[in-house]
Amino acid sequence: MNEKCEVCDQTFMPEPSFYMGAMFVGYALQIGLFLATYFGIRIINPNANLEIYMGIMITLVILTLPIVYRVSRSIWIHLMIKYQQQIDSLTNQSTTNESSSI
Ligand SMILES: [Zn+2]
Repeated sequence: MNEKCEVCDQTFMPEPSFYMGAMFVGYALQIGLFLATYFGIRIINPNANLEIYMGIMITLVILTLPIVYRVSRSIWIHLMIKYQQQIDSLTNQSTTNESSSI
């Protein structure tokens, strides 16, 4: 993960253990994944037994873990830190002021 945003210079680690809350976002994403998988299996094979459900869901959790981990952190920082377009215009103004003073 980058330390700062290349565009707006926002730090991606605003405070220690900032991404603890991303755990709950990841939990919600996993529940959505579980429900979609459960109903998907029920539609494909209504007579599937517990071992099939467990096998598919455990495999799916392991395969999607890196994606869910990153997406939940991204959602969390988007929820907590709002994008401020003013920063862009302020940095543009400061660069134009510097160039005009030279
Ligand atoms: Zn940015």
